[in-house]
Amino acid sequence: MGSIDNLERLTLERQPSSEGPYRLRGEPRHPKDDACGFEVLDSFERFNQSNDIYTRGQWDARIRSEKVLNWFKGMFRPGLGARNADGYSVRDFALRNAGWMGANLTIQRSLGRGRVDGFLDYIIPYSDPNPERVPVDSPESMSEELKRVARLFGADGVGITHTDPRWHYTRSFSTKALAEKPYDIPEGLPNTIVIITSMHYEAVQCYPSATAGIAVGHGYSRDCELVQSVATYILNLGYRAVSSVNDTSLAIPYAIAAGLGEYGRNGLLITPEFGPRVRIGRIHTDLPLAHDQPIRFGVREFCESTCRRCADSCPPKAIPHGPPTEKIPNQSSIIGIRKWQIDAEKCFKFWVNQATECGICMRVCPYNKDTSRWASRQWYRFWRRLAASPAKKLALWLDVKLGFGERIKPADFWKRFRGH
Ligand code: SF4
Ligand code: SF4
Repeated sequence: MGSIDNLERLTLERQPSSEGPYRLRGEPRHPKDDACGFEVLDSFERFNQSNDIYTRGQWDARIRSEKVLNWFKGMFRPGLGARNADGYSVRDFALRNAGWMGANLTIQRSLGRGRVDGFLDYIIPYSDPNPERVPVDSPESMSEELKRVARLFGADGVGITHTDPRWHYTRSFSTKALAEKPYDIPEGLPNTIVIITSMHYEAVQCYPSATAGIAVGHGYSRDCELVQSVATYILNLGYRAVSSVNDTSLAIPYAIAAGLGEYGRNGLLITPEFGPRVRIGRIHTDLPLAHDQPIRFGVREFCESTCRRCADSCPPKAIPHGPPTEKIPNQSSIIGIRKWQIDAEKCFKFWVNQATECGICMRVCPYNKDTSRWASRQWYRFWRRLAASPAKKLALWLDVKLGFGERIKPADFWKRFRGH
């Protein structure tokens, strides 16, 4: 998200400047990679934020258009994008935009300084650390304490891992200058706390629609509040803490390394409890903390051998049907990792044509279940065991047969919401 004024001033010819190498080479492998399921190759290169598809929507003439600018503006301008269709009325966009408010407040705080905290830049801490450090008994006990604090503020999952420079961008992007800028996240923060927040189940069932957008916007808003609350707790204990949401680094590898889930064919983190229906925040800190280990619960095997539901359901065919590969579809993908490659250009084009984002691949994923109720939680646990067993085809057949992942009409969402 960025300043509308800046977007208005864009010129078609503008490209990011190239001070230094466009992509920087990093250290290819880490001992934890096998447990994470990462296949990092010798050709690995760290990612330049200018290549992110949203950033390219601002500078790259092949992506940017009047429609794209309106897509960004629609988040802030009431009624923009609304039309006479179920799920795309003024009321649907109103709900979506209201969901973004918590995130917008974080963005607004430093917009005047050319920053977009939480979305292009890390979130500037509210204070310096307490000069008197509270002693830490052990990294293990502090990790437990911190997880309890994060859950107190509403986190749906917390994991801790080492800070990994491979997932940090080489360069940042300034919406004020409309050019690359140096990457400036503070150094000397060896531990990374990863926090997940679940998104609204029924809203996600409405994809594609603007109604469903509340799941993303409100997810980001909760995430922005959460990471800053946890960071503020750490600062008050006398340690450094820098929080981050959709900025400065790749969230999914961090979440996998912190033991929060696996990587799915749809290019999303698949968590055991909420499937792909989560947002991911990070806090980098020098607080002494013990690290979590990655988990495996059969997602890769299920996606690889049995399921193609996300790929079959993606309207612009942005999700591959084949095996993981290092061949990237375009410059918005990271180089040198063998994985399922999502075509961000095709995906974003579809979003822009909808005037809102899409999440069909999140909706249809069999790991996306309502875990808020006892009965559905028990069913999902049973289904997950089935999906990890040799009866994978039966698991998929049952999921489809029982109607999981089917779209809820936005009009029905509103009826349930209003209670009639
Ligand atoms: S968000 Fe929509 S367009 Fe993008 S990959 Fe998923 S299903 Fe396809
Ligand atoms: S829809 Fe199926 S193939 Fe796609 S991520 Fe989910 S489980 Fe994997």
